[in-house]
Amino acid sequence: MLVVMKNDATEAQVQAIIREIENMGYRGVPMPGALRTAVCIIGNQGPVDESRLLVMEGVKETIRVTKPYKLVSRETHPESRAIAVGDIKIGGGKPVIMAGPCAVESEEQALTIAHLVKKAGAQVFRGGAFKPRTSPYSFQGLGEEGLKILAKVRQETGLLIVTEATDHTNIELVEQYADIIQIGARNMHNYSLLRRAGHSSKPVLLKRSFAATIEELLMSAEYISSEGNNQVILCERGIRTFSDNTRNTLDLSAIPSIKESSPLPIIVDPSHAAGKRDYVISLSKGAIAVGADGLLVEVHHDPAHALSDGMQSLYPEQFGELMKEINTLIK
Ligand code: PEP
Ligand code: MN
Repeated sequence: MLVVMKNDATEAQVQAIIREIENMGYRGVPMPGALRTAVCIIGNQGPVDESRLLVMEGVKETIRVTKPYKLVSRETHPESRAIAVGDIKIGGGKPVIMAGPCAVESEEQALTIAHLVKKAGAQVFRGGAFKPRTSPYSFQGLGEEGLKILAKVRQETGLLIVTEATDHTNIELVEQYADIIQIGARNMHNYSLLRRAGHSSKPVLLKRSFAATIEELLMSAEYISSEGNNQVILCERGIRTFSDNTRNTLDLSAIPSIKESSPLPIIVDPSHAAGKRDYVISLSKGAIAVGADGLLVEVHHDPAHALSDGMQSLYPEQFGELMKEINTLIK
C-alpha cells in the first residue's frame, strides 16, 4: 500500500506516518517525488487497515499497490529514476555506454582496451575480476589483483568502473574498488547476495537471468531496494529459447515492458545475447531504438587470445563503428 501525502505535508508528518506503520508491524519507506511524497508500506503479508493512517495529518489518500514488487514499481514511483554515478546519469538522458573485456587479464590488456574504448566515447569500463564460469576449469579471474588493475584504469583514463561480485565472499572487496557493482545473470536469484548489495552505498547493475521473467527480475531488484539501496540499474542480456543461432535470444520487448512497470533504468548487453561479434552492432542499434538507457559491450584488442568470451568481443574498430552508429541514432 502507498500512503500519499498532501503536497504541503511536512517532514514531521511523514515521519509520524512511518512510526505508525512500524507500530502496525510493517515498514514504511518514504518515496519522495517531484510533486509529492508518498510512503510505501512493505512487509505486510495481507491487506493493511488503512483507516488508522487516513485520519493522520498530512495524508491525502492511500492507494493499493497491485504488483508484488513495490519499491521498484511505477505504481509507487511514477517518475523514471536516474542513477547518478560519478559525473554521469544512467536513465532518462543519453544512453550510457559501458565497454571493455569480459575479464581483466593483465594490466597491459585492461589499459590498452580502456584507452581505446574511452577514445571511441565509452563512459564506463567493464571487466570482471571475479568470473562466474560455466566450467570450474576455465579462467576464474584475477581476483583482487584484477580489482587493483581496474582502479588503475579509472585513475589513468577517468572511466568509471563496473565489475562483478560473484558471492558474499567478494562483494565487500568489489564495492571498495567498483563504481557500479555488477550482479550477474547466474546470481539474479542469489537472494543473500542481493540483500547484501542492498546495504551497499554503490549502485548495482542487476542482470536478468537467462531463465527469468520480467517480474522475477523486478522481484530481485526489490530485494536490493528493500534493504535500502534504490540505486539499481537493470540489464537485459538475452534469455534462453529454442533458437540456437545466437548464444541467447535478446528480448528487446523487455525494455518497453520494464519501462512500463518500473521507474528503474534498463540497459542492454548485446554481447552475451549474441555470442557472436558480428551481430553486436545490429543488436545495439535495436536496443537504443527501443529505448534502452545504455549498453554493456565486450571489446578486446586481441579477441583470438582472450581468456573468456573472445568470440563475442568486438574489435576496437568495430566498437568505434558502433559508437558512430549509436550517435546518429540518438541525435
Ligand atoms: C559478464 O557480463 O561478464 C557476464 C558474466 O554476464 P552474464 O552474467 O550476463 O552471463
Ligand atoms: Mn563475458
